[in-house]
Amino acid sequence: MPHSSKDKKEYCGVFGIFGHKLAVELTYLGLYSLQHRGEESCGIAVSNGRKIEQLAGMGLVSDVFTETALKSLKGKTAIGHVRYSTTGSSILRNAQPFVISHNKISFSIAHNGNLTNAVKLRRRLEREGAIFQTTMDSEIVLHLLVRSKKTKFEDRLIDALGACEGAFTMLFLTPDKLIGVRDPNGFRPLCLGKKDGKYVLASETCSLDLIDAEFVRDVEAGEIVIISRDGLRSIKPFEGKRLSPCIFEFIYFARPDSHIFGDNVHKARKRLGRKLAEEHPADADIVMSIPDSGNDAALGYSEQSGIPFEIGMIRNHYIGRTFIQPSQEMRKHGVKIKLNPIRDALRGKKVVVVEDSIVRGTTTCGRIKAIREAGVREIHMRISCPPIKFPCFYGIDFPSRKELIANQMKSVDEIAAFIGVDSLKYLSHEGMLEAVGPCQDSFCSACFCGDYPTKVSRKAVKSPFEK
Ligand code: 5GP
Ligand code: MG
Repeated sequence: MPHSSKDKKEYCGVFGIFGHKLAVELTYLGLYSLQHRGEESCGIAVSNGRKIEQLAGMGLVSDVFTETALKSLKGKTAIGHVRYSTTGSSILRNAQPFVISHNKISFSIAHNGNLTNAVKLRRRLEREGAIFQTTMDSEIVLHLLVRSKKTKFEDRLIDALGACEGAFTMLFLTPDKLIGVRDPNGFRPLCLGKKDGKYVLASETCSLDLIDAEFVRDVEAGEIVIISRDGLRSIKPFEGKRLSPCIFEFIYFARPDSHIFGDNVHKARKRLGRKLAEEHPADADIVMSIPDSGNDAALGYSEQSGIPFEIGMIRNHYIGRTFIQPSQEMRKHGVKIKLNPIRDALRGKKVVVVEDSIVRGTTTCGRIKAIREAGVREIHMRISCPPIKFPCFYGIDFPSRKELIANQMKSVDEIAAFIGVDSLKYLSHEGMLEAVGPCQDSFCSACFCGDYPTKVSRKAVKSPFEK
C-alpha cells in the first residue's frame, strides 16, 4: 500500500509556559514528554517581553536542543511544538512554532490538529494576494489574523479562528501573552497546569508530571485562555458545536500516564482490553501484547479472561515509532529493528496477541511473522478497536480509504489471512464506546463509522498544498 511523505498527517504536541525564569528549559522537558506525538521536527519560541525568538529543527527533541541551542534562547514565556509531518511535507520550513512579524508586532503559533476547510481558506487568501511561506494549514490562521479589521490581538484571533473548521488545539505567543485555544469540537486535548505559581499549557498531563506542575483543569472545547501578567482570563466565543473529542487519542495516540478528556488513558485502555475479552474470548495459554501500544489493553484482556499475561516481545527503545518514519522503505526496516519475540516464552504456545489497532496492516504482518517464527502453535489476534474504515480529517494519520486495510478487504477473515493469524477479532463499536466511558455519546469515532462531526470536503483527503 502506497505511503509517502506527501500524505496528509497531523500528529503534534504543544507545550507553553508563562512568566517562568526557566521557561525554555521547562518547555524543553515538556516537549520531551510529548515526543510520542511527533518525532519529525520540533521547536521552541520564546519571548523576553519585547521580542520573540525561535529555534526549530528536524528530528527529536534531544537532537535539536543541544545545550548551546537551549542557551541561545532567552525569555520567560515560551511555547514549544513537536511535529509529525503534517499537512505539508516534512521539511524544516514547515517546523513549528511559526513566528511572524506584522505591523510592528511579532507573534508565534504552535498548532495540533487539522483544518478541514484549509483548501477553501487558502485559495481565498491567495486570491486576495496572500503569499504563503509554508505548506502548513496553520499558516492560514496567521493570514486571517493579520487581515482582521479588529485592533486587539484577542479580537483578531477570534475573527481568525471563527473562520476555521476542524481540529485546532493551538498555542499563541505574543510578546506579553500566552494564549491557548481548543476548537469548539474539542478534537484534541489541551490541559492547564501550574508550576511554581506560573501557568502551563500542554497537550497531555504527562508533561505536567515531568516538570512537577499541578494539574488545574482541561481547557474546554471552544475555550480561549489568555494568560498575561494580570493572570488568566477565559473566553468562550465559539460555543454550540457538537463536542467530539477524538476517541483514537484513548486507543492509541496519547500516553497511558496522561489524563485526557477527563480520564486516565491507561485505565481506559485496560477497560477496552477487558471488553475485548468479554466479546471475543480465545482458547489460549498466554496473552501477549505488541509493545508498547498494545500493553494496557493486553493487561485488561488477561485480567478479564484469566489467561496469564506474558511478555512475548521486547521493544528496542532506542529507535522511534516505526510508523512515524515517513517512507515505506524505512518503515519496513523499522519493523525488524524495533521488536524481537522472546522465543523461549512463546515456543509451542497458543497465544492471544493484543494490539490497539490495525491501520494499513503492513507492520502487523511483519510482527505476526516474527511471532510465528518464534515457534508458537496458534495466534489469536485481538484488536482493541473496531476496523478503521474511514480517513481522519482531524489530524490522525489515516489518509485515504485506499490505504486502510479494513476498507480494502471485504471481510475480517480476509484480513486474518493476509496478516497470517489463526483468528482475528475486533472490538465492537458499542463495546469501545462503553469501555471508554464518560463522554461516550460525544466522541468522534468517524474513522470507524464515517460519521464526521463537521462538514468535510472530500478533497481534503489529499494534501492540497504540495507542489
Ligand atoms: P499496521 O499494521 O496497520 O501497518 O500498523 C499497526 C500498528 O501501528 C499498531 O501497532 C498501532 O499501534 C500502530 N498505529 C496505529 N495508528 C497509528 C498512528 O496513527 N500512528 C502511528 N505511528 N502508529 C499507529
Ligand atoms: Mg502498536
